[in-house]
Amino acid sequence: MSNCTAAVIEPRTPAERECSWALWADHHQQKKFSTAIKGSWRQWRLIDHHNEVLHSSDLYRYTSLSAAKYMTQCENNLDPSVVLVRAAAEDIVGTGKGGSFTAGSQHYKAAQLYDSRPPKMIDSGLKQHFLGWEVRTKYAIDKPEIATLMDFRVDQSRGLHFIYVLPFSDRRLLIESTMISSRLEDKEWYRQAIKQWLQDRDIEIEEKLREEAGIIPMQSVIPIDNDIASIGAASGAIRLSSGYAFTGIQTQIDQLAQRISLGNYTVPTPISPTLTRMDKIYNGVLMVQPELGVTMMMRTAQALDADSFARFMLGYASALDWARVILAMPKMAFIKQVLRR
Ligand SMILES: Cc1cc2nc3c(=O)[nH]c(=O)nc-3n(C[C@H](O)[C@H](O)[C@H](O)COP(=O)(O)OP(=O)(O)OC[C@H]3O[C@@H](n4cnc5c(N)ncnc54)[C@H](O)[C@@H]3O)c2cc1C
Repeated sequence: MSNCTAAVIEPRTPAERECSWALWADHHQQKKFSTAIKGSWRQWRLIDHHNEVLHSSDLYRYTSLSAAKYMTQCENNLDPSVVLVRAAAEDIVGTGKGGSFTAGSQHYKAAQLYDSRPPKMIDSGLKQHFLGWEVRTKYAIDKPEIATLMDFRVDQSRGLHFIYVLPFSDRRLLIESTMISSRLEDKEWYRQAIKQWLQDRDIEIEEKLREEAGIIPMQSVIPIDNDIASIGAASGAIRLSSGYAFTGIQTQIDQLAQRISLGNYTVPTPISPTLTRMDKIYNGVLMVQPELGVTMMMRTAQALDADSFARFMLGYASALDWARVILAMPKMAFIKQVLRR
């Protein structure tokens, strides 16, 4: 490894890490991620028993990426000086900014280490947990041009629950049952919710193509090793109120690369402390009064137009966007939550 300036240590292949990553992508990002895009929509909606909020944007498209295709693209574009080691890092010892570890029975010493291993989650903390199927349907579905971000017309008895539907075509869907709560459910529970939602709409499955499940922390996370600089989700890049992290991680890593080229190895803070404080208040209300969840999500979408909503979800909301959302929230619940802190 004498000429090696950087090494990426990753035990799993892109195919082994396949899942769907979604973001609100502007024109530039649409181009950047084009080879990995599975579907993109200029219209998205949230729906409950009383209302449907439909957003149409010319600036952003809600975009779903194949994680495997994106990571293959990243691996193929690695600079020739960067070594990719397909093995787990073990016996990691952080010393100052750098450290040592073994991977694939080789010992490495690094002047600078960055750690993106998944962080620890607080067991009792709020989380977004979901199970989804990618399916081919027997017949064409209605309105494949609209992504359904949250359909709350499902069982709400165990916490805030919604169905998420991305139509990749009129016969190919990703459909997920998603919960925001502190307790995980049996896998069969989410599967049943998906079946019920499809049955209620007379949508018949011709073939189940894939199942994916995930747990995304919605409370502060704990890096595996505090002695090593964390990046990505481990550094707190997951937006606590939404679980979206992809765009924040892209920005953080772009900024870090720029810093490194200037000789500065410190990791940029992925989300501003003010935004994290606001998100914690939002989540605090969800924890204490989960029955307000549907109202809070629907009112957030109603208060904003499509582009402001996309900015809000991406963590780039303007002061005016924030003012609109705050005014739309159930006041007493938020005042009590602020006083509780
Ligand atoms: C199923 C799922 C779907 C998600 N969907 C979205 C979405 O649609 N939009 C969005 O914005 N966010 C989404 N997120 C949240 C977030 O974007 C992802 O979690 C994202 O993958 C975080 O990236 P990361 O690089 O920080 O961590 P990860 O992608 O979790 O990468 C950590 C890597 O560390 C590797 N690793 C573990 N142990 C070792 C070791 N000892 N040595 C070396 N490597 C090791 C793992 O193999 C893994 O590849 C999703 C999360 C999940 C779990």
